Amino acid sequence: MVVLGIETSCDDTGVAVYDSAKGLLTNRFSSQIEIHRLYGGVVPELAARDHIRKVIPLVMSVLEDCGLEASDIDSVAYTAGPGLVGALLVGATVGRSLAMALSIPSIGVHHMEGHLLSPMLENEFPEYPFLSLLVSGGHSMLVDVRSPGCYRLLGQTRDDAVGEAFDKFAKVLGLPYPGGPSIEKIAKFGSKRRFRFPRPMARHKSFDFSFSGLKTHASLEAAKHAMDEETRCDLAFAFQEAAVGALIIKCKFALEHTGYRSLVVAGGVGANQLLRKQIQELMHSLNGKAYFPSLQLCTDNGAMIAYAGFLRLRTGNRESLSYEVWPRWSLESLPPIPL
Ligand code: AMP
Ligand code: MG
Repeated sequence: MVVLGIETSCDDTGVAVYDSAKGLLTNRFSSQIEIHRLYGGVVPELAARDHIRKVIPLVMSVLEDCGLEASDIDSVAYTAGPGLVGALLVGATVGRSLAMALSIPSIGVHHMEGHLLSPMLENEFPEYPFLSLLVSGGHSMLVDVRSPGCYRLLGQTRDDAVGEAFDKFAKVLGLPYPGGPSIEKIAKFGSKRRFRFPRPMARHKSFDFSFSGLKTHASLEAAKHAMDEETRCDLAFAFQEAAVGALIIKCKFALEHTGYRSLVVAGGVGANQLLRKQIQELMHSLNGKAYFPSLQLCTDNGAMIAYAGFLRLRTGNRESLSYEVWPRWSLESLPPIPL
């Protein structure tokens, strides 16, 4: 089955083609970073308008990449939620219309299910069940992935997502958006000794995260000092240590709780080298294994949507001509996928 996957839930337009016999054929995306940089965060209306401009040309170019005609596609999968409603509607409308024009089935995919299943597109992938840490600009979640379609949300952020906290604190430091890479870059030059920020929720016996207190604490500390280059680097260092430290504490707790020894890290913050290093060390100490999907599959992309869509379409999941998007949508409400 050849599935076209379309992702437009936030600020990346992603389109990919997955062939169940050959694997992932092509995966392209167009980032909106330059559009939102001016505002220091994602502006929903601008995001939706840019998806409108980009999605059809991307569909054409992925088909060209793999030498396919539109008529070679067997089904279409698009992100139906959660996400920004205007952005979701673009992918859903294009995906659904394409399927109708080609008389093929389509399916609305849960964005987080796409992320959870994305490691299966890599050469080296974990066996079920495994623990997944999803850390992006919009989410911070720990999910018990028991089998395809069967997910238990162990914990999530009670306020800001970790990527969002990086973005907001970077703004305080006068660094460009997206904040995560900007903070990571200068944290290398920061001193270990000057500042130490608390690890949020560390002693809380739950798997939930909280990052807005850390952001406020760090911002108040920043306001006490003249913002020279050295101070900026020292603050970035302390912020990164605390944010990553908080993620590690909860991962360790969840691994102890579930007894799992495979941990997948997905989402944009998964690019952070300190997080990767500390996760590797944690899994090594537990005799387990960490899985980091490649950056192309880690951030928002059409490939994971095509793959999750394929698993559900394969079992005969179909939708009617009318379609809906779900800006809020619980992962746990999804039906299991029969193997
Ligand atoms: P996503 O929401 O998956 O598209 O990822 C974007 C988010 O990841 C933004 O909030 C970025 O600031 C964050 N991010 C990207 N790279 C890094 C990094 N190296 N360290 C920390 N956060 C990052
Ligand atoms: Mg994104």
